[in-house]
Amino acid sequence: MLIDSHAHLTMPQFAADLDAVIDRANGCGVGEVLDIGYDRAGMDETLALADGYGSVYASLGLHPHEARNYDDGFEDELKKNIMRRKVLAVGEVGLDYYRDLSPRDIQRDVFRRQIGLALYFGKPIVVHSRQAFEDVVRILEEEGAKEVGGIVHAFSGSLEEARRVIDLGFLIGIGGPVTYRKSKLPDVVSRLPSNAFVLETDCPYLPPEPYRGKRNEPAYVRLVAEKVAGILGVTIEDIERAAEVNYRYLLHGERDIPPRIAYELKGNIYVNVTGSCTNNCRFCVRLRRSNFLYGYNLNLVTDPTVDEMVAAVRELATGDQHREIVFCGYGEPTCRLHDILAVARRLSDLGLPFRINTNGHGNLINRRNIVPELEGAVQKVSVSLNAPDRDTYMHLCRPDAGVRAFDSLIDFIRKASASALDCEVTALDCPEIDTDRCRTLVEGIPGARFRTRKFHFNTCED
Ligand code: SF4
Repeated sequence: MLIDSHAHLTMPQFAADLDAVIDRANGCGVGEVLDIGYDRAGMDETLALADGYGSVYASLGLHPHEARNYDDGFEDELKKNIMRRKVLAVGEVGLDYYRDLSPRDIQRDVFRRQIGLALYFGKPIVVHSRQAFEDVVRILEEEGAKEVGGIVHAFSGSLEEARRVIDLGFLIGIGGPVTYRKSKLPDVVSRLPSNAFVLETDCPYLPPEPYRGKRNEPAYVRLVAEKVAGILGVTIEDIERAAEVNYRYLLHGERDIPPRIAYELKGNIYVNVTGSCTNNCRFCVRLRRSNFLYGYNLNLVTDPTVDEMVAAVRELATGDQHREIVFCGYGEPTCRLHDILAVARRLSDLGLPFRINTNGHGNLINRRNIVPELEGAVQKVSVSLNAPDRDTYMHLCRPDAGVRAFDSLIDFIRKASASALDCEVTALDCPEIDTDRCRTLVEGIPGARFRTRKFHFNTCED
């Protein structure tokens, strides 16, 4: 389901055709809209909207433009309404030093007071920040807003600013500007981890292409999702799922998402083979705040059995829309070599090629050359190299086997590249990794192909 996490449906622009606007949104797969209160008069209208439409929820707060009108009366109203069933957040609140419609010291004070309410009532915060990023982050930090988290809506900052928002426990709100021709947002979005964003319209403002200059509306959040999918190289369904789970996790407190054994991503079926690994990479996705990958919980409690893996893949492989079956996981699949070979044999009737995403320690783990066994069962191996030399590998990947691991990994690449397997070797394009040297190393191995993988701030999500 698509969700518009930031809309202003109480604006006069929607007065004449609100029913049609909401019908159009539902017709485009937008199953939920968070309507954002921004002033005193709008609070009741937002609440009425949420009461009147099943798919509309509310966030209440005073916009920084209106900060000079904040008083005890408004605060009492906010307190009275904040725990109503469909009120999910406090906002939009924050600072706007671009238009400066309220004095800055009052904006800061009102921002702090509303953060205090959010903390008191345990509600996430919807943040407006315009030319005030440093003060916004400082105040959120000083007030301990990480405890409830929130969304920095209509994010338009740099990569470094996005990193700071995420470190604060907040989500990035991506809206129409990501579709604009000269926007720098796509560069930032291309690095976002999939558990770090939600989608929004900010309607009636900021319409995406091709509706610039016209009224924006929740149905257009699909255009934002399509653009983000293109940037990240995944399907629109992947973006829809990721953004929905991120939103529900934050706004509805839906955290009990069962772990997945098999899941669809980028048109492939991935098999989550194990949570055990012989490396302890500094950038491993397992080390981050939540283990959600495009909305999937991959944090296995126990490794799945062969029967469970086969059944989970068969449940997904109902049509002909998949390109390959990939053994991966938050761990090293060749730790369970015997089992993945059994799964591949039992699923061979599906007619799909098999790939293993591996750290290349398979020979070390299994104390033999496993390439001939792989050759009979899978078509492709994708090996994470991530270091051009032993010392860097020791520092970044911290292998259990110590210095032997890098030599064994290179030996595995040589053997796999010389076999019938299609052997791809990858390195993350993060600052600590010299991808040029990795490429040179791989290009010196006959048959091996090199590919850089996008680094998503702090993880190897690709
Ligand atoms: S090899 Fe992969 S799964 Fe293992 S620690 Fe490194 S990033 Fe994580």
